[in-house]
Amino acid sequence: MNNIKMFLVRYAEIGTKGKNRYVFEDMLCKRIRNRLKPNGDFDVRRDFGRIYIEALSDYDYDEVVAKLTKIFGIVGLCPVTVAEELTYECIRDAALEHFDESFGPDSDSEYNGFNFSFKVHTRRVNKEFPMNSMEIDMEIGHDLLEKYESEGLHVDVHKPDVMVEVELRGDKGYVYSRIIPGPGGLPVGTNGKAMSLLSGGIDSPVATYMIAKRGVEMEAVYFNSPPYTSARAQEKVEKLGTIVAQYAGPIKLHIVNFTDIQLCIYDNCPHDQLTIIMKRIFFQIAERLAAANDCQAIVTGESIGQVSSQTMQSLGVIDAAVDCPVYRPVIGMDKQEIVEYSQRIGTFETSIEPYEDCCTIFVDKHPVTKPKMKSIEISEKHLVGKVEELIDKAIETAEIKWLK
Ligand code: ATP
Ligand code: MG
Repeated sequence: MNNIKMFLVRYAEIGTKGKNRYVFEDMLCKRIRNRLKPNGDFDVRRDFGRIYIEALSDYDYDEVVAKLTKIFGIVGLCPVTVAEELTYECIRDAALEHFDESFGPDSDSEYNGFNFSFKVHTRRVNKEFPMNSMEIDMEIGHDLLEKYESEGLHVDVHKPDVMVEVELRGDKGYVYSRIIPGPGGLPVGTNGKAMSLLSGGIDSPVATYMIAKRGVEMEAVYFNSPPYTSARAQEKVEKLGTIVAQYAGPIKLHIVNFTDIQLCIYDNCPHDQLTIIMKRIFFQIAERLAAANDCQAIVTGESIGQVSSQTMQSLGVIDAAVDCPVYRPVIGMDKQEIVEYSQRIGTFETSIEPYEDCCTIFVDKHPVTKPKMKSIEISEKHLVGKVEELIDKAIETAEIKWLK
């Protein structure tokens, strides 16, 4: 499909935003422009409640489609063949060319080979065209049948496999028929910013993706504990963040060295509470990084009951460590559902690489599953006067990497 010069972008939810609609549309256009910059010269414009992407230079069709189908806000993408002049002959030629490219034997369509039912639907925005919509439907339908009927093409006006849309607008005609599904959601940048706690596991990349999908710009924080955790473990987190960034846009990753804090907890607190206390400090650091970077919430990949630190009691005690909102989009999902989600977005294979996590190295054999706030507070008293300075230092020395 290299001759496609234009795409029509379908978006759904943006359309419900009333007066703010243009803000969402403009942000979506901006996201599209940014993502396609390295791929060629494209004109991205808003026109009568639609977004058109027109290629002004050569480009790699597969690469561009792969990128566009990862932009939040896009529900579907229609490759368009353009009739450069508003004459019947020109529109017909565009329709025939469109069919060859979309449904030829080499195409990636499920209907390749022309053996399917279709219907033509014309929208005549430019009313000056001498034929009316019905006449165009009939004529284009007739011409398509004439060429492809012998290969199995047939008309079904009630439940066609393929709806061929013909639009006459301004001084051009547009023909499209395929909708390549996009990820849906809202354009990133239309809904504030959040700080995601990103580990190398399966859950937190999915959580990051889910919040970004609602239009939220993401930053991320990763706590590592060298030499107890390896450079490979950090690389894995960066790789996961980079995969999510293909959807969410560039992610600013804060890499926080947690070793001294972890040892301080280990030396001073009961070992069955290590994970809870460590998580509380993760949250406190994340909250401070969030505040310093204009983020309005923190995000984690926790799910009720998955491990001891994710019981209702544990989550409550961890939550109480911070004032800012904590979003846990996978909270009600089963592990298998999160796994399937991660497979769909492409993070799964990386998540299951076997590098150690700082949580797993210091975990007790019998961690508390129903921690009491009082008892955690008593344990944390042992950290007073020792851990504050370590926390400040960890924040000051955090390394920043842009993932894109
Ligand atoms: P994940 O699959 O996301 O690693 P998990 O099932 O391993 O989660 P936990 O280890 O209890 O569960 O972590 C719960 C959440 O805490 C993670 O989803 C993540 O948001 C955060 N988290 C855990 N470890 C780290 C870390 N080293 N750095 C940053 N965030 C972390
Ligand atoms: Mg983990």
